[in-house]
Parts: sequence; C-alpha cells; structure tokens
Amino acid sequence: MTGTGSTTPGVIRPMRNRDSEFFWEGTAAGELRVQRCNGCGALRFPPGPSCPQCHSFDQSYVVAAGTGTVFSYVVHRHPPVPGKELPIVLALIDLDEGVRMVGEVADVSAEEIAIGMRLRVDFHRIDDDLTLPTWRKA
Ligand SMILES: [Zn+2]
Repeated sequence: MTGTGSTTPGVIRPMRNRDSEFFWEGTAAGELRVQRCNGCGALRFPPGPSCPQCHSFDQSYVVAAGTGTVFSYVVHRHPPVPGKELPIVLALIDLDEGVRMVGEVADVSAEEIAIGMRLRVDFHRIDDDLTLPTWRKA
C-alpha cells in the first residue's frame, strides 16, 4: 500500500457518475444504497436519472439490509482479469428489497455456488476512492 489518496493499479474501476455517486459513497461508508423514486416510491438498480415507472427525476435512496438470494450466476475462468485470482464467482442477486444487482461472491467456490443460496453483503476497501461490495454466504 502506498500513501493516502493514491489509486490501486491493476484494478478495474467501476463507472462513476452523478447518478451512481451515492452508491459508491455508500459502500465507502459500509452501506448498500438503493435508489428510491420520491415520485412513486419505486426502488431501482442500477441507478439512473429518472424513474422508469413514473418518469420522476426526484430521487433519494434507502439503505438495503444487505441480504439477498442468488437468482443466477456465472463462474469466470478465462480470460484473466487484472488484479484478480480466477475463477471468480459472479452472481445476480435478488435483494430482499426487491431489486437485482450483480456482484462478486467471495469465499464460495465454483462448485458450491447455487441458485437460491442466501448471501450477505460485505465491503472490500480497495483504496481511498473505491470500496467494492462483495457477497458472502449468509
Ligand atoms: Zn417513480
């Protein structure tokens, strides 16, 4: 590790913009935040500028419980990913709040991962600028 404020080389960094900044501020604070429409109350992921249900631009967020169920998954064995050991287990996770997000599952092997498995979010701090949500067996 180098000095504060530096970014870790070799890590694929997610896109950040005005719509998703609250999400990344949340992971840095240990919160899994889900965008909420103030017009109709719908939750949505990924975040966007307007509500697909009612087209309102008025939005806030809720802090999710951080638990969910595997809807589907892939095991990435190839090609190599910078900064990662393969295989990587990636899951589509249905949060208990009703939105679906993709996430990396840690400490669950390619043989063990299963649809319907209960997961709990954890936060992996990469550096000052990036904390990634990772998922573990609940
Ligand atoms: Zn809405």
